[in-house]
Amino acid sequence: MRKLAAGNWKMNGTAEDLAEVSALITAHPAPGCEMLLCPPATLLSRMADIAAGSALMVGGQNCHAKASGAHTGDISADMLKEAGATHVILGHSERRADHAETDIAVRAKTMAAQAAGLTAIVCVGETEAQRNAGETLLVIGAQLAGSLPVKLTGAVDGLVVAYEPVWAIGTGRTPTLKEVGEVHAFIRAALVERYGETARAIRLLYGGSVKPSNAADIFAVPHVNGALVGGASLKASDFGPIVAALAKA
Ligand code: PEP
Repeated sequence: MRKLAAGNWKMNGTAEDLAEVSALITAHPAPGCEMLLCPPATLLSRMADIAAGSALMVGGQNCHAKASGAHTGDISADMLKEAGATHVILGHSERRADHAETDIAVRAKTMAAQAAGLTAIVCVGETEAQRNAGETLLVIGAQLAGSLPVKLTGAVDGLVVAYEPVWAIGTGRTPTLKEVGEVHAFIRAALVERYGETARAIRLLYGGSVKPSNAADIFAVPHVNGALVGGASLKASDFGPIVAALAKA
């Protein structure tokens, strides 16, 4: 399985930050794993131009479930694709929290993304209160059941699942490796139960305070097939070593 190092720039980055993209490509011309950056929509096509012909792919951070229409401020999967995206992050906890995105909405977006030929990176994860209450697997199971398409249509690499504990995002805190392993094994089993044996090839990413200093340990955990990285994806000097660790894992 080809592993994936994905970076989420969130609402960060203007034209001057594109220098980081060139630096990343120069440092990792053929990284030995897939490498993706998801900038704000305003930078997508310029980043795609810089990445053209390199090992770097670019993606969106959200899309609308409809192809077009009266949805002020939204962007469709086809629009992302036209701008040069190959992937889109969906159901990130910040979108679930800030925009009240439900599992059903995430499923509709996922199906729209796949219909447009984008790989959907669907995020799931528990809050700290849910973990402390012993509800982690219950919550993740419900998110998977509601957010993922009922049937796996198209290529198996058109779907990626990212496990991102909400309390680990941007906090510098991470679950133990054992906890990461438990949730990833649970997600793998849930996907196999839902889609059959083919689901063993769906990439599972860990996300939440991945840094150069903890990346190699996290990548050694079974069923961790890459990372979704926020803060540490903004600088080539941080994201590059994470990509290199994944390539070596
Ligand atoms: C994220 O928001 O997807 C994320 C993992 O952020 P960070 O790496 O900054 O914790």
